Amino acid sequence: MNVVLLGAPGVGKGTTAERLSGRYSLPHISTGDVLRESIASKTSLGLKAKAFVDSGRLVPDKLVTEMVKARIAGNSKGFFLDGYPRNINQAEALKAFSEVDVVLNLSAPKKLVIERLSGRRICMKCNAIYHVKNIAPKKDNVCDKCGSELYQRSDETPDVITERLRVYDEDTKPLVDFYRNEGLLRDIDAAQDVDGVVKQCVEALERDD
Ligand code: ADP
Ligand code: AMP
Repeated sequence: MNVVLLGAPGVGKGTTAERLSGRYSLPHISTGDVLRESIASKTSLGLKAKAFVDSGRLVPDKLVTEMVKARIAGNSKGFFLDGYPRNINQAEALKAFSEVDVVLNLSAPKKLVIERLSGRRICMKCNAIYHVKNIAPKKDNVCDKCGSELYQRSDETPDVITERLRVYDEDTKPLVDFYRNEGLLRDIDAAQDVDGVVKQCVEALERDD
């Protein structure tokens, strides 16, 4: 089962994909996580991507596409792909190297998305996702899963958040119609709590139409 999660930054794709990945025993591939890890370890991809990620712009399609191609190779049972494709060019590229079975389109009002983005905290080691209010760790700033420190992403400043939401509206939103036309889109109300969102995704994945 090859699944793409679509939606604005902060809507809850990573949180939902992580839960679905556990339920179906399929990998969660987050392009944002891979890029942040590459930047932290100063690989050649990371060095090329840093200025784009820091400013909230899209990393060039060719770089990201090669990265995703390498990650999904060998996952013959499927994947939950989060953060790719991000524009029509990437969607066409994906079509050429992998089938997509379902696209889960997560949406929520912009105000809620900004509130989620602004309070997000990530584990430095295992990338687990928290929120200072909605999904708080048991102990302040400490990951429940691995005990490492949590951090706030450097692209989570008001200016960069504004730019990322602009890029979403301009470049990524057209994918909703792209995948609707392909008959693959399932609309998910992401304004619910995580259990509600996951339940709706499971129903959408198990519906046979
Ligand atoms: P995305 O991957 O779409 O950028 P995340 O999964 O990282 O979004 O979630 C963004 C923030 O919102 C995180 O702080 C996360 O803990 C929180 N969050 C995710 N889903 C929900 C939800 N259904 N209800 C409340 N908060 C959520
Ligand atoms: P995310 O973690 O999904 O919010 O992504 C963080 C940042 O990584 C984005 O603002 C982009 O700079 C970059 N990025 C992630 N996925 C892609 C992609 N598919 N294409 C281009 N840039 C991406």
